[in-house]
Amino acid sequence: MAEYKGVMAYCEVTDGKLASIGSELLGGGRKLADDLGEELIAVLVGSGVAGLAQEAIAFGAEKVYVVDDPLLKDYQTDSYVAVMEKVVKEIMPRVILLGQTNIGRDLAPRLAFRLNTAASLDCLELSIDPDSKQLLQTKPVYGGNAYAVFTTEHYPQIVTVRVKSMSPLEVDKSRKGEVINIAAGLDPSAIRTKVVDKVVEEVEGIKLEDAPVVVSGGRGIGSAEGFKQLEELAKLFKGAVGASRPPCDNAWVPAGLQVGLTGKIVSPDLYIAVALSGSSQHMSGCSGSKNIIAINKDPEANIVKQARYAVIGDWKKILPAFAEKVKELLSG
Ligand SMILES: Cc1cc2nc3c(=O)[nH]c(=O)nc-3n(C[C@H](O)[C@H](O)[C@H](O)COP(=O)(O)OP(=O)(O)OC[C@H]3O[C@@H](n4cnc5c(N)ncnc54)[C@H](O)[C@@H]3O)c2cc1C
Repeated sequence: MAEYKGVMAYCEVTDGKLASIGSELLGGGRKLADDLGEELIAVLVGSGVAGLAQEAIAFGAEKVYVVDDPLLKDYQTDSYVAVMEKVVKEIMPRVILLGQTNIGRDLAPRLAFRLNTAASLDCLELSIDPDSKQLLQTKPVYGGNAYAVFTTEHYPQIVTVRVKSMSPLEVDKSRKGEVINIAAGLDPSAIRTKVVDKVVEEVEGIKLEDAPVVVSGGRGIGSAEGFKQLEELAKLFKGAVGASRPPCDNAWVPAGLQVGLTGKIVSPDLYIAVALSGSSQHMSGCSGSKNIIAINKDPEANIVKQARYAVIGDWKKILPAFAEKVKELLSG
């Protein structure tokens, strides 16, 4: 085991910028590395990403491995898995952190297979066992109705971490670190896919996954019209609107707003769940929220049990008064 050392954070790059999940992983990874007394290593993969190394250092990395190659312009499974395998074999980290994002979810299990180890997906909390020095991985189970702590005996210990469950460190541009460039060494013929087109989803206002406050509606909202009231409340908080599956299936809101097992995973500071029951499939997407408020007419609804606060009654009566109070508090 002695050869595995350090905590490695894979920092995704979106539109030429360090994605927020990267700084979050570096924030969480810093604490793990300190507890182990080992280094925090950032990994940047892409085309034109070398300039971001100093930013990763400012967010807490001691070393940054950079793989910069035009063939890595777009995320493609074949090229990124091959490059990551190469980088990991060079670094031999004890712990590998990736985001619970489309990329992280794709990379982590494939990497684990190639490295003959395991991967835990969708972790909410990580810590180091002081005796064994193993990574303790807390993740939701039973559709978000309970949490379990896992560990793996094989190294490197690979995990994906839910967006917003770790906090970035304050940026400190005076931090010093080492930047190491690695050649991608890719064989273009081994990349079996080609990116033909990219379609950017138009989002008005803040993205659901990035919003500090999410106001989600369920089947009980009853119509697209009803969701307008939820939008108004979300606007007051500078937040975003989400939904359970039925409003998306009924086209009251776009499918991209669905929260849950087959929708988006959100971890806002505040999740206001209006007229939705809190099915296990829905809770899979929102159980990482710091606070849940439920508005529901059924006191036995699962969301009421999961929520920190619940208001029991018809949302049509409760929501206007709730919004008024929020306005009053925000203006005062
Ligand atoms: C494979 C699979 C994947 C799935 N993925 C997802 C997913 O990603 N996300 C998801 O959400 N679902 C998903 N589902 C569907 C899921 O099982 C539930 O059917 C769905 O979450 C229920 O949505 P709901 O809570 O809005 O509706 P309901 O279960 O019908 O609940 C409506 C709630 O609104 C309350 N209510 C009604 N009227 C009012 C009112 N006037 N005022 C206050 N409260 C009111 C009721 O008391 C009730 O609690 C999935 C299902 C499967 C099988």
